[in-house]
Amino acid sequence: MPKKYHISTKATPLDLEYLFKFRITRGENCINCGKCTKVCIYEAHKREIGDPRKMAAPNTAVCRNCFRCIQECPRGALEKSLNQDFLNSDGSYWKSNMLISLWKQAEDGKVPVSGAGYRGPFTGMGFDGMWTDMSEIVRPTRDGIHGREYISTAVELGRKLNHLVFDADGKLLSRIFDTVHLPLPIVFDLPAENLPGNVQAALAKAAAELDTFLILPVAGLTKDFEPYADNIIPLLTHKEIDQYSALLKNARLAALQYDGELLNNYQAVKVKMKGISSAPVIIRIPAGKDVEDTVSQLVHSGAEIIHIVADYCGLEVNGHASSHPRLIKDIIRAVHLRLVSEGIRDEVSLIFSGGIAMAEHVPKAMICGADLTAVDLPLLIALGIRLYEEPEKFLVLPEGLENIPVPILTQRIVNLMGAWHSQLLEVMGAMGIREARRLRGETGRAIFFEEVDEDTFGKLFKNREAVRL
Ligand code: SF4
Ligand code: SF4
Repeated sequence: MPKKYHISTKATPLDLEYLFKFRITRGENCINCGKCTKVCIYEAHKREIGDPRKMAAPNTAVCRNCFRCIQECPRGALEKSLNQDFLNSDGSYWKSNMLISLWKQAEDGKVPVSGAGYRGPFTGMGFDGMWTDMSEIVRPTRDGIHGREYISTAVELGRKLNHLVFDADGKLLSRIFDTVHLPLPIVFDLPAENLPGNVQAALAKAAAELDTFLILPVAGLTKDFEPYADNIIPLLTHKEIDQYSALLKNARLAALQYDGELLNNYQAVKVKMKGISSAPVIIRIPAGKDVEDTVSQLVHSGAEIIHIVADYCGLEVNGHASSHPRLIKDIIRAVHLRLVSEGIRDEVSLIFSGGIAMAEHVPKAMICGADLTAVDLPLLIALGIRLYEEPEKFLVLPEGLENIPVPILTQRIVNLMGAWHSQLLEVMGAMGIREARRLRGETGRAIFFEEVDEDTFGKLFKNREAVRL
């Protein structure tokens, strides 16, 4: 049995004020009786340090909305409201609750617990309209998830053979392609340009500690990244191959930015790359309208790994505002099924990114057909960076972020991935799947809302439409 993959998490709070949901305010009619200090188990209410006769301002960031202090205050001096900052940061895809959840997972590395009952909607856009089959959840051996049963979250990146060929003497004739083993079906994608040096170093260090990779444009690869060279995927254009041949020689994986010229000359580019290094090559391509056609052509030309990048909300890129851009869930399914129908799915590994915002998106993307995902913005949210969607993607870095030591930032990213790894194990355990690679394309183990909706009401509404016509 392979060694169990373990992520060491450690409580790592940051002394920064992040988003919080509820604001508690204390009115002037407070008589400083101190009853609220006793009833709030989260210690939102404390006395002033300099003058214990008075109450300090409530620490509303820790409030869990239990209402107890409001009910128990003898003077009705406490009021609770939704924090305006929380409301302002709520986007159509990146919800404020998601930002807070990512921040907390980075703080302690634990699986988030929503508390007494789920009061949210049961379906929504994209991955929210997809439910995984949890029929194994009551299985007696489920306790093995974190114990004696081994569930592997490992995947391989690279081209695989459809079958093996042997000669008459039983000698293997097939050439086995180089693949790269990853213990977690996640790589890191550089979430934004112009990040402070300590943030970039923490991303690379965390990738190394987790035994995964960080994709970095070659232009930004300074000497500071040398200690993490084994865990960095240099991203370049095919025109830069000669310029960076020394760097490519030692890379374990390399990534090429897609353009039309690359598609026309991929065989030649591949020969050139293989002349420099045996590292598997990733082609990074935007998730445009006809991405499945391009992916198919690339695989027929010998592409071994393709990284398909949707926009930061998981939407098809370059779609017209008037059209309905596809969601990443549907893009993954379209690409996967296209390759399956052509009998070439196993010849390529597919990485998807854009809109991978929560732990559950990783197994859901795999069920739709991804081999693994690339994560970007959640890594920054883990470090206290705020994301606003309107009018376009807008990141607000907390004051003082550039002075936080690299080990602290690294641990927060490790914590986030620790929490995601635990959630992946929970989902796989509940589905009765013991190997992450077997999640790929298992759509029979998931329910898609739009399909159920169509099955249940489709005919009814189609008939209505026909009657109206
Ligand atoms: S319980 Fe009410 S009156 Fe007493 S200290 Fe708290 S806010 Fe003030
Ligand atoms: S509502 Fe509950 S959690 Fe929030 S401050 Fe009051 S007692 Fe504490």
